[in-house]
Amino acid sequence: MSYERPHLRNVEGYVPGRQPIQTNVIKLNTNENPYPPSPKVMEALVQVQAEQLRKYPPPLATPVREELAQLHNISVENTMIVNGGDELLRLAITTFVDPGVTIGLFEPSYSLYPVLAEVNNSPVVRIPLSDTWQVPAHAAQALNKAQAKLTFIVNPHAPSGTLLPITEIESLASQLNGVLLIDEAYIDFVDPQLSHNVVPLITKLPNVLILRTLSKGYGLAGLRLGYALGSEQLILPMLSKTRDSYNVDVVAQTLAKQALMDQAYAASTWENVRKERNKLYNNFKQLGLSCPESQSNFLLVTFPQGSAMARRVLSGLEQRGILVRYFDTQGLQDKLRITVGTAEQNQRLLNGIEEILRESLSIMRKDSVRA
Ligand SMILES: *Cc1c(COP(=O)(O)O)cnc(C)c1O
Repeated sequence: MSYERPHLRNVEGYVPGRQPIQTNVIKLNTNENPYPPSPKVMEALVQVQAEQLRKYPPPLATPVREELAQLHNISVENTMIVNGGDELLRLAITTFVDPGVTIGLFEPSYSLYPVLAEVNNSPVVRIPLSDTWQVPAHAAQALNKAQAKLTFIVNPHAPSGTLLPITEIESLASQLNGVLLIDEAYIDFVDPQLSHNVVPLITKLPNVLILRTLSKGYGLAGLRLGYALGSEQLILPMLSKTRDSYNVDVVAQTLAKQALMDQAYAASTWENVRKERNKLYNNFKQLGLSCPESQSNFLLVTFPQGSAMARRVLSGLEQRGILVRYFDTQGLQDKLRITVGTAEQNQRLLNGIEEILRESLSIMRKDSVRA
């Protein structure tokens, strides 16, 4: 006897990257910021009062939203705080997509999207990206034809790290009949010289909903805090109807405000990540490995020897206490997604990969001599 709703029986659920209890592993598998949050965040944490915990938190998280409005130069009404960006993905579905109605996504991308669609009992229309991770020209047409009421796009793209220019995003959004949720989980790591800012689109296009998170850029994945930016038309029903009444706790609200106020500190971590990302990119090339140019805090590394080698490196690194991410899905099987770590972590990663490649290639050569 099963009590689940029938359509949930075959849902597999989201499989997150490993989060080991041991602290001595080098975690390059879930794209956390390698640097801790601002010291101001830690000071505010120590100063949390019992009285704040006794009472309910500000229901609309207005103090944090005011900070966001200032940061992005928009109105408070165009912002909303969520319990991690993942909550916004679910809220967008609950608010804009009836069960049975189609959700659009690009492939490959964040593997949580299709899981959430399944939970809603929504069919999914999957638009394959090109070999260079570009959105195909017919995408909007195909999504409209499938009557997608909501489409997810992640930019910078995951797992490749590549960035679509604003013009492409705008063109897609302006052609779509449904809502376009632009998942900007990794936006903070984009090179500032590119002046990439899609936020002004929310005043031009009422169907654009932007997801941001403090998990990656602000070193606060454990806090669970994300936010939405969009037209009032999109924000208001989520804010006043579908979200949990106190969806973000008082500690998260307090610390998020401090983190957002200390832009200088956060930006210094982004700059370090970019420097290390560029170093890693060159080092991978020297090892004969290729990866697309990433505007994110990870690199998608291709092993020209194929999927057996990618898996060999995955397990070889694991034996050395270094976790990276492998996706056993079509088009990604000869690749590893590797988070940019600190300079020291990256050096250990490179040493490990070099050793594993050397060992594996000499074993393969011996095998071919025997054969
Ligand atoms: C990390 C991430 C999110 C949101 O993560 P939260 O920790 O829930 O804020 C959303 N989309 C992508 C692609 C991500 O990698």
